[in-house]
Amino acid sequence: MRYNNAMSHIEISQSNFLHNLNQIVLKTQSVEKVALVLKDNAYGHGLDIIARLAHTAGVKEAVVRNLAEARRISHLFDRILVLNDRPSTTPSERFSFAVNDLAALRSMPKGTPVELKIDTGMHRHGIRPEHIEEALETIAARSLKLIGVMSHYRGADEMGSDFFWQRKNFDRCCENIEKLGISGWRRHSCNSAALFRLERFDEDIARVGIAAYGCLRLPQPFDRPDLKPVMRLFADRLSSRRVTPSMGIGYGGEGRVSTATTVSTYDIGYGDGWLRGDARNPYRLPDGRAMIGRVSMDMFSLEGDDERVSLFDDAAEAARQFGTIAYDILVKLSPEIPRVLV
Ligand SMILES: *Cc1c(COP(=O)(O)O)cnc(C)c1O
Repeated sequence: MRYNNAMSHIEISQSNFLHNLNQIVLKTQSVEKVALVLKDNAYGHGLDIIARLAHTAGVKEAVVRNLAEARRISHLFDRILVLNDRPSTTPSERFSFAVNDLAALRSMPKGTPVELKIDTGMHRHGIRPEHIEEALETIAARSLKLIGVMSHYRGADEMGSDFFWQRKNFDRCCENIEKLGISGWRRHSCNSAALFRLERFDEDIARVGIAAYGCLRLPQPFDRPDLKPVMRLFADRLSSRRVTPSMGIGYGGEGRVSTATTVSTYDIGYGDGWLRGDARNPYRLPDGRAMIGRVSMDMFSLEGDDERVSLFDDAAEAARQFGTIAYDILVKLSPEIPRVLV
């Protein structure tokens, strides 16, 4: 829940987003090959705001989770790939649907544009290589349109040979489909990490999410792409009071100060999607101050009385503190927090 007068907000940096997009296009060689992943409210950045920015920058392809998201942005893209949903009637020509298993294929309405997802080693979604022929037969029998063949890596952002092993499996599957005389489909396997890990990108589109939002983190031996975080999160002061070291602040009285000082509460809490964390190992803001005591549903406490504070200017750094990934920090932020383009 949010107070009506709360002013906490999310800043979306247009210039950082465009900078990241440029870095991505340097890898794909063309903006037409960028399929921007906009699932889950554009990784928390705001679906409409990011879709419009991308459209203005010439991005033609989008990737979303479900049909509802696809419909919201359908006027802005040439084609939208829906990852985890199924149409009940033949959908718009511009929507395509990832085929996550054989059963899904059997329930797609006639004429649906589909992209065959191959399970090349992640074992989460997709058709096993030995079932590809059966899948292709079903596609033909049901008059579906095969417009893409895709896969997803289980560890493109991790050290080791998994990435190359899966890539080889995918190559082999694509060759087999070609040998069967089936053409006219596009090939795509890369997420952000895979795109930046490849020496030379050679597929038809890359499905890029986290890199566009500036939070891709690759481990040390890999080249670090020059990307800038797009999101910053701000909270506003609700109230202030004088406290002394004998006073326990917040739930459980767990928050303490070392000298008499002013403590203020700010209008973001776990009800806004901010992680509650552990008061014994408090979150530190970019300015170095640690939150005091437990995070409440709609607020947290901090020494000082600034009117506005920044909770993070890089979600990857916030994620590091919580022992999680930037995606987790970003997508949880409530869609009700106003997103402001700067
Ligand atoms: C989320 C997702 C992506 C984007 O991954 P990033 O690591 O954010 O670039 C690409 N492909 C599929 C299938 C996904 O689910």
